Amino acid sequence: MTLRVLILGGTFEANELARRLAADARMCPTLSYAGRTANRRPALTPIRVGGFGGANGLAEYLKREAIDVLVDATHPFAVQISGNAASAAASANVALIVLERPAWQPGPLDRWTFVPDLYAAVAALPSDPSRIFLAVGRQSIAPFAAKPQHHYLIRVIEPPEVPKGLTSYEIVSQRPPFRCDIDAALLRSKRIDLVVTKNSGGTAAFAKLKAARQLGVPVIIIDRPVRPSSAVVESVDDVIMELDHHHDTLAKRSV
Ligand code: NAP
Repeated sequence: MTLRVLILGGTFEANELARRLAADARMCPTLSYAGRTANRRPALTPIRVGGFGGANGLAEYLKREAIDVLVDATHPFAVQISGNAASAAASANVALIVLERPAWQPGPLDRWTFVPDLYAAVAALPSDPSRIFLAVGRQSIAPFAAKPQHHYLIRVIEPPEVPKGLTSYEIVSQRPPFRCDIDAALLRSKRIDLVVTKNSGGTAAFAKLKAARQLGVPVIIIDRPVRPSSAVVESVDDVIMELDHHHDTLAKRSV
């Protein structure tokens, strides 16, 4: 028997999980994307793309596809889909595993200022014109138009729609994982004064923070929103351990 697993993705860890489950004959994974980026990495598992139509739509999908375990491996800032996952899993009576990578913590050499949200990040920018490395994702750029005196180096996976008010900017299209030496060279060559990022956590996008530490560049770091998750695991290995357990339980029940 195989365990039918739906992975809610859009993260480096979700791709890694899908890759590992694809190599495990006991697992039958499907990877779900919201469809925000057009150029996805080739996946080894079946994928589906687009919203489910809210929590009810997701619950319907879980039942129709006879999903045994739902893995919420979405980004820590993706609040809506995680809420939907929790209520859909409960109403469809499907086991839920929430994978949430630990938040980044500053070391003694880091110059981080924590802010509660995107608007507070904009408010915390200096008033004098500065050169700012913006690593907040393509959907979160618009509020920075309120401070057009700065030059923004915007790193995104795919080119965003830049808000009209933002006049001085450059786009760098790059996909994680990133490297510290390359990010340090980027910050240096672009004469960056300040980095702004979400506290995404994980290893794939930590390079910019290491680079900022090496160069003594200050960072504004946006705290995570509260997500409705009770029990969370922190790594792909932990998810696989839980899935092994679910598989064994199901296998025992079916003999
Ligand atoms: P969100 O606000 O939490 O979700 C909005 C809606 O998008 C959901 O209600 C759902 O539509 C759909 N959706 C989200 N993730 C989905 C998935 N994996 N599969 C199918 N439908 C999904 O999400 P978001 O913050 O816009 O993030 C969208 C995607 O980008 C997520 O997959 C997330 O992992 C990834 N991502 C987000 C960020 C970020 O900073 N927010 C950063 C990196 C990656 P329905 O209600 O119709 O089902």
